[in-house]
Amino acid sequence: MLKGHKASPGVAIGRALVINNSPVRVERLTVDSSNLQLSRLESAIACSKDQLQKIAEKSKINLGEDHALIFESHQMLLEDIEVLDQTKTLILEHKYSSEFAYQEVTDQFIAVFESMDDEYMRARSADVKDISQRVLKNMLGIPLCDLSTLEDEVILVAGDITPSETAVMDRSKVVGFLTDIGGRTSHSAIIARTLEIPAVVGLGNISSSVTTGDLLVFDGDFAEVYVNPDETVIKEFEEKKIDYRKNKDLLKKYHGLETVTLDSKKIELASNIRSTTDVSFVVENDSEGVGLFRTEFLFMNTDTAPSEQEQFSVYSEVLSSLSPKPVVIRTLDIGGDKQVDYLNLEKEENPFLGVRGVRLCLENSQLFKTQLRALLRAGVNGNLKIMVPMISCLEEVLQVKELFSECERELEGEGTEFSKDYEFGMMIEVPSAAIESDILAKHVDFMSIGTNDLIQYTVAVDRMNQKLMNLYTPYNPAILRLINLVIQNAHEAGIWVGMCGEAACQKELVPLWVGMGIDELSVTPSDTLSTRALIRELHYSQCQKQLERVLQLGCAKEVENFLK
Ligand code: PEP
Ligand code: MG
Repeated sequence: MLKGHKASPGVAIGRALVINNSPVRVERLTVDSSNLQLSRLESAIACSKDQLQKIAEKSKINLGEDHALIFESHQMLLEDIEVLDQTKTLILEHKYSSEFAYQEVTDQFIAVFESMDDEYMRARSADVKDISQRVLKNMLGIPLCDLSTLEDEVILVAGDITPSETAVMDRSKVVGFLTDIGGRTSHSAIIARTLEIPAVVGLGNISSSVTTGDLLVFDGDFAEVYVNPDETVIKEFEEKKIDYRKNKDLLKKYHGLETVTLDSKKIELASNIRSTTDVSFVVENDSEGVGLFRTEFLFMNTDTAPSEQEQFSVYSEVLSSLSPKPVVIRTLDIGGDKQVDYLNLEKEENPFLGVRGVRLCLENSQLFKTQLRALLRAGVNGNLKIMVPMISCLEEVLQVKELFSECERELEGEGTEFSKDYEFGMMIEVPSAAIESDILAKHVDFMSIGTNDLIQYTVAVDRMNQKLMNLYTPYNPAILRLINLVIQNAHEAGIWVGMCGEAACQKELVPLWVGMGIDELSVTPSDTLSTRALIRELHYSQCQKQLERVLQLGCAKEVENFLK
């Protein structure tokens, strides 16, 4: 039995599909028969073409025409005459192996694209890298895993599953996620919860200890994974699966009810989403709005940043389909564990402490302004609230506001319709912003506490590092005091304050958030009804008393035991 960290509830029983997406590099190798190498090249190209064709067809169904175009353009690059001719020349003249020759040629093309001034052309380097890896792996017989073309139901096992992999994944075929690294707040865990796929993360080395085809069973709530278990264990988990479903069905009775304590304190219960498709989860789970739309996912799995018009349609669709419910759309939060190849960002030693979120947007003001204009225009279609991530000081808030004014002036000048009554808010996820929240609160309409990052930056623990998960905890009294301070400061300034990190629906902690006076909690859609059920059992006045006692405690374990 392997033990990891809870990521997404639910019971999974299925065969493992181990994905190893680490890039290959080959050494220089000379051979006797060039003819054999030429035919290896030909069959790898033909096989890659076939695979891309299948992916394009699947992604047309899963993600729409636009995404399919990427794979169609990959097919064209694959057959590029220059690449193929130069590879053949290296094979014939230098007697190189087909894989070394192909790597040499594609490396040169990648370098040329990377050095170009034009952003669109620079982005082509990522495409050539992708194709080159596909062809090399096909030549070397390394299995490739395309999550969009899965034939059978599987439990995905990997070092980590990236947001871009989950974007193309065929949801109906993936019954579970298991990863080596990560904690409850890593993005693979967040996505698994949104898609209601049971998951355990931070299992150490499951991707090397399990092989494709092994039978795996686990319960996401216990974070224990059984590999090739006997009949009794399988039976036990089959029963658990039925119970889990029954419990979910029981929660349906909270549909349509208010989220309010027994002594009438109302909390707004919203959802975290990352795409227009997630809106259906918001509706199904009777959420009261969106408290966090992570827009960076629109920028992943494409070759270039979406245009103003493309973004306008996505934001408008979400706003209008949920109107008049509030929708908090967060501006781009790229960086950290969410990377975008085509932006060609510099490699950083510590990406979580680097050019991330608003820092990246202020450095790339054109990219940012395109998003702001799209947001302002879409605002006329619903109840828009715009929120900026990773703010660490007042200067950033002021610079963002200046860019908003610039965009508004431009739109006004062009005679383009845009929202004038949207709310402007910021995330509190960096300790400096929390400490200075009394001052920052005077410059915004609302604040939303991002506990996922606030914890990592306050206790100095990478949210992906499963070895330190004992330190990465919202029970830490310093975290609780910071959150309490932010809520008080926001209320003193007369603005509302929410919470959109994963701690927002941690059931032992919800009474504390209520006691602190939080106005809104934004949770994974599937956590909505259980959180509502919990809040409807609470007394606000008792929560306040409980909070007073908790704030006297000195260590996380004491808080945890007290709240049990
Ligand atoms: C957070 O940091 O709590 C948050 C909600 O943002 P993300 O998880 O996207 O970093
Ligand atoms: Mg964050």
